[in-house]
Amino acid sequence: MPRTSTPPASRSTEPRTPYSNEEIYARIQKAVLEHRLAPGTKLIEERLADVSGVSRTKIREVLNKLAHEGLVTLVPNRGAFIASPSVEQARDVFVTRRMIEPEMARLLSEQATPAQVRALRKHVKLEGDARKRNDRPAIIRLSGEFHVLVAEMVGNEILVRMMRELAPLTCLVITLYDKPNAPACPHHEHDDLIDAIEAHDGARAAACMLEHLQHIEATLNFGVIKEASPDIEAIFS
Ligand SMILES: [Zn+2]
Repeated sequence: MPRTSTPPASRSTEPRTPYSNEEIYARIQKAVLEHRLAPGTKLIEERLADVSGVSRTKIREVLNKLAHEGLVTLVPNRGAFIASPSVEQARDVFVTRRMIEPEMARLLSEQATPAQVRALRKHVKLEGDARKRNDRPAIIRLSGEFHVLVAEMVGNEILVRMMRELAPLTCLVITLYDKPNAPACPHHEHDDLIDAIEAHDGARAAACMLEHLQHIEATLNFGVIKEASPDIEAIFS
């Protein structure tokens, strides 16, 4: 029953093979990561069930999971919405990342294998390719995934869970508050960080990560909230 191929990009309403819960979860999360689903977008159970071909009960399960992770807000009697972090919550996301990630970078620099360094460079190359294509959704998603990858390499499951939660939340924050033409992570900073990790220089890796997070936060403009454009089909396109 689970689909293995990429669903068609068309927005037709013809019936198709039902998606599994995991796929629906992954698709909503990806749509958030790629900024294709604006914060504040209402996620109508009925329409999600229609478009995806699964029951409303299953859709509700997926929405509950996403709500637990902070990506979706459930409002009694109104339904589910893509979370729309307030300025305070946005600042909290970055405060938390600044607390966690420099130490995460330091830990990895102490134990990184050549294969891990190669994998990090490979990931940065994907980011570079997306930049060349000017593929903004991919740039933003890959930038977030880089940080999750670092957590995975450290091998601390709790840290991985936290980063998997913080990365999409950061995407929401960037969607709401970034200045035009300042997408995601400044490119060379991931390279600088990998250099420090490769050199097993923990202090430099931690400093690179801190500076990097400060740069991302500095591109945000908390004075402006952008209008959300509701587009449920964007999840499955
Ligand atoms: Zn980054």
